[in-house]
Formats: sequence, C-alpha cells, structure tokens
Amino acid sequence: LEEARGAHEQVHFLALHPGRGGAKNLPIVTHQLDDQVEDQEKPRLVIIGSGWGAVSVLRNLDKDKYNVTVISPNNYFLFTPLLPCATVGTNEPRSLLEPIRKIAARVRGHFLEAQAIDVDIENKLVEVKSTGSVINEDGTGEDHFYVPYDQLVLSVGATSITHGVSGLQNTHQLKTVQDAMAIRRKVMENVEKACLPTTTPEQRKQLLSFVCCGGGPTSVEFAAELFDWINEDLVKWFPKLLREDVSVTIIQSRDHILNMFDVQISEYAEKRFKRENINVITNARVQRIEGDRVVYKYKGNDHQEEEHSIPYGLCLWSTGIAMTPFVQSLSEKLGIQNHRRALLTDEFLRVKGVPDMSIFALGDCATIENPKLIEHIEEIFENADKNKDGQLNNEEFNTVITYIKKKFPLTRQHCEKLEERAFDKYDQDHSGTIEIQELGKFLRDIDRKVTQLPATAQVASQQGEYLAKYLTKEDNKNNPFIYRHLGTLAYLGNTAVGEFSWGYKMIGGLYSMYLWRSVYWSEQVSTRTRMNLSLDWTKRALFGRDISIV
Ligand code: FAD
Repeated sequence: LEEARGAHEQVHFLALHPGRGGAKNLPIVTHQLDDQVEDQEKPRLVIIGSGWGAVSVLRNLDKDKYNVTVISPNNYFLFTPLLPCATVGTNEPRSLLEPIRKIAARVRGHFLEAQAIDVDIENKLVEVKSTGSVINEDGTGEDHFYVPYDQLVLSVGATSITHGVSGLQNTHQLKTVQDAMAIRRKVMENVEKACLPTTTPEQRKQLLSFVCCGGGPTSVEFAAELFDWINEDLVKWFPKLLREDVSVTIIQSRDHILNMFDVQISEYAEKRFKRENINVITNARVQRIEGDRVVYKYKGNDHQEEEHSIPYGLCLWSTGIAMTPFVQSLSEKLGIQNHRRALLTDEFLRVKGVPDMSIFALGDCATIENPKLIEHIEEIFENADKNKDGQLNNEEFNTVITYIKKKFPLTRQHCEKLEERAFDKYDQDHSGTIEIQELGKFLRDIDRKVTQLPATAQVASQQGEYLAKYLTKEDNKNNPFIYRHLGTLAYLGNTAVGEFSWGYKMIGGLYSMYLWRSVYWSEQVSTRTRMNLSLDWTKRALFGRDISIV
C-alpha cells in the first residue's frame, strides 16, 4: 500500500486495502493524464466539493505549494444566492455557473467528476465513485477508486433537513441548478395545464397553488421571484387565467419569516407580502405532505393546535440543513463527534477526532466548537451565583447572558438566539430559580446556538480564504478562524432588505433591488458570469422572461 501511495507514475495502482465492511480491492488513483504528472516534492491536497468553500480555498491557495485534486459530482461552481432567480427565468442557469476546471487551473489542480463516499483515515485515502450520465442504472460504467491525500479539505455542503415529515418525495428542493430547472419546468407545465379547456376550476386553483415550506431566505426569495413572474409575465401571456386563481403560500414554524434578520425587517417583509397577496402562515408546523396537499398544525394565540391543509400544484421544501450521508458516516466513524447537523472542527477548522489533524472541514458541512465558551461556562455560572446556593434567579441568569454577550464575539443573530433562551423556559416549575446542575441543557443549547455559524456562502468563503492561508503560511498556524459578519441580504420582489455590519438596515425601495444586484454582481467569480447576468437582466427588462418549456 505504501508503495502504491508513494509511486508517481501515470498508472492506476491496485492495492488490497482494509476498508469499512471488509477488504476493498480498489485502484488507487494518483493522477490522470500524462501531462499532469505530480510533483513528488509537494504534498497532496485533496479538496472535496466545488461550492463556495472549495472555490475560496482554490482562489486563495499558494499556487506552488501542493498537488491539488478537486473532487465533485459537479464540474462547476454554482452561485447559489441567485438560484431562486433561475426558477422562473429571471436569470438563466448558465449565468450562475463557472466551470471548476477554470478555477482550479490557477493552482494547476486536477478535477475528478466523482463523489466521495468514504474516508480511510488511517491510510489517508478518499474512497470515490464516478458520477455522470455515462453510468447505467445497474451501476455498469461506474468507476470506484481511492484518491490518496496528505491534507484533505471537506467542503461538501449539506442536504435538506426532513424534520421527520413524510411525503417529501412530493416536494421540490432548491439546492442545485437541476432543482431550479425542475421547478421552472413544473411551474410552466402547471400553468399550461391550467389553461387547458378540460381543466376544472378546482383543478386550476390547485395547479396554481404554490406552497413554500420554511420561512428562511430561500423560501422567501423563491416566493418573491414567483410573485414577480406572476405579475410581470403570467398576467400578460396567459390572459385566460384569473389572477385570483394563483396563490403563493409560505408556511413558517416560527412567529416571523426571515427570523435571522432584525425583527423590523421581518415585519416589513411580512407586510409587503400581505400587500402582494402572498399568504404567510406563521407558527405552523408541517405534519406531512400528501400527494395533493400540505397538512400542517397551526398554533393559535390560545396555544391550541389545529390541523389544516392546503392543496398544492408545486410545493417547495426549504426548512434548514442536515448532514449529507457522506458527512454523517464520517462523523459516526470519528466517535467524538456529537453534533447533529455538522462535523465539529476546532477553531483552525481541523476536524475533531482525526489523529494527525490532516482533515479540515468548512462551510455548511462543518461547525466550529468554541472551546472558550465551554471552558468558561461553569466559571461564569459560579461567578453569577452570588448566594452560592447552586441556583440562579432571574437577575443572576440575566447576568450570565449579558456576560456571555459581552465577552464572546457573537453576531447579532447569535445574541438574539441567546435572548430567546429566556429564564422562564428553564424555570419549568415556576419556583423563581433554576438549579445550576440542571443547566447542562442550557449550556448545551447556548453552546450550540452561539458557536454555530450561519450556513451561508459568506461563512464558507471566509473559511476558505482562512484555510488557504493556514495551509500555505507557517506564521498563520497559530491564528484561529474568526468570522466577520459583513451583512445579510434577501430579495423580496423588485425590492430587497438587508442588514450590514456597520448597523445600516436596508428596508425596501427600488434602490435596494439595485444595491442587492450590485452586491451579487460584484461577488461573481468571473467576468463571463458578470456579463451573462447583465444580459439576463437587460433581456428581462426589454422582453420579459422566457416562458417556453424545455
Ligand atoms: P456548497 O456551496 O453547497 O458546495 C458543496 C459542494 O460539494 C457541491 O459542489 C457539491 O456538488 C459537492 N459535494 C456534495 N457531496 C459531495 C461528495 N460526497 N463528494 C464530492 N463532492 C460533493 N448564502 C449567502 O451567504 N447568501 C445568500 O444569499 C444565499 N442564498 C442561498 C440561496 C439558495 C437557494 C441556497 C441553496 C443557498 C444560499 N446560501 C446563501 C447558502 C450558501 O449557498 C451556502 O451556505 C454555501 O453554498 C455553503 O458552501 P459550501 O462550500 O459549504 O457548500
């Protein structure tokens, strides 16, 4: 095995290798083509994923330090913030994609269109299987092999959380460019079907009922895009359809949509949607998705739950993120990992539990365990417990919260999350105090909420930049990753909202839409996609969106 790992000829080596579930006789692939021979002096850096985190590493890495291999089932980088625009044709999917080979060329990186399925930590091998259209349904045509690494970067993103809701196979997700194209096709097919003379009024209403489960930015932006499309294109090109037949509904489990924003912004979004006839149902939990309707429980002011249902023609599921099966299995293998949604890393983005610290994780698949808070929390409680009776009263509890907020580098979103953990929630027996010993739950809650960075492109991108420096500069090895929250934006249909780190809040107005566009235009990874976006926006303004189904 060692011989195979150390060899640098242009061949596939066969090695008997003990893997999960028995010995695996898989080839070990070091490089692919004659003219891409590895430099034996350089360590192998394998990056899994071609999203925000991976691209940021590739764009910031020292060009000459590593033999770089990028592995992803997608041979492109997808600009996710504008993905909702592709669901109705505001932007074409191609305008959001940049070939990963072009980005990896900067560091002379190899790209393998394949999926990582396991990591052999002991032998430093990634188990990979090829993907793509050349693979038949019975699996023939699929290649299965190992890629050796010296340093491994995991940036594989996340999948959608299910919350145990049944019937999700009836829903659409919005995570990939294929998802956006499927939604676009479905929207158009439903509208065309609604126009058929054989369609009954009930069927028409159902076909044109668009239900979004989840009140986060993806759901809200999709609803806003749909609404723009309805108002600007549907009414013009489908005059037979009545505007009243079309409905857009958002079902949100919390009391506000966009709750990562300041409450003023959430309320603005809700008011605007109400005015535009987008039905926002808050405090409602989806129970199941049936073939033709979404069943949810609504909690009224009297805290009584009532079951309701809404028929749908298209249902979007966007309620948060969970680990991909690959990350889940790695997390289980590592033993000390105990986070439910992501791989735990230290503040240098090194995955916890890997003996030689050679695996890094960033972006949506990872979360940083903040040792400072865990280490200090008991001491914080002790200091707050003035009477030393092992209990905290309301005032003492608030001292703890204030202390944590002051002492630890929290974003505004984290602060709000901390405040949500109100005293009453822990004082279950209404005794006016909470036992310190019972605060294990509180500690874990706070620790999770506080240390969990938001799952955003901004975080993944900053982490990628940090990691590239960490991997190339010796003097960076002692500086932990620190997240700098620059702001958050969301599109609301010909306007936008946003919060910026210097305190400025952008609430509506046409200028907001242009600011929103400018931010994302400038964030593009290539001039080509910038040009494509500009063309898409111009075409939309001059001719409206393309309404053909392909
Ligand atoms: P991703 O960008 O998701 O990349 C993961 C990559 O890993 C993909 O290339 C995938 O193909 C690959 N991969 C997955 N599994 C494997 C495997 N087993 N083997 C090999 N490769 C694998 N964030 C913002 O900051 N602002 C926004 O406005 C915003 N809007 C969004 C809108 C939508 C519709 C969505 C879905 C997300 C949005 N986000 C936004 C969130 C942002 O996209 C994510 O936080 C970001 O993509 C995370 O980057 P990542 O590198 O961790 O994962």
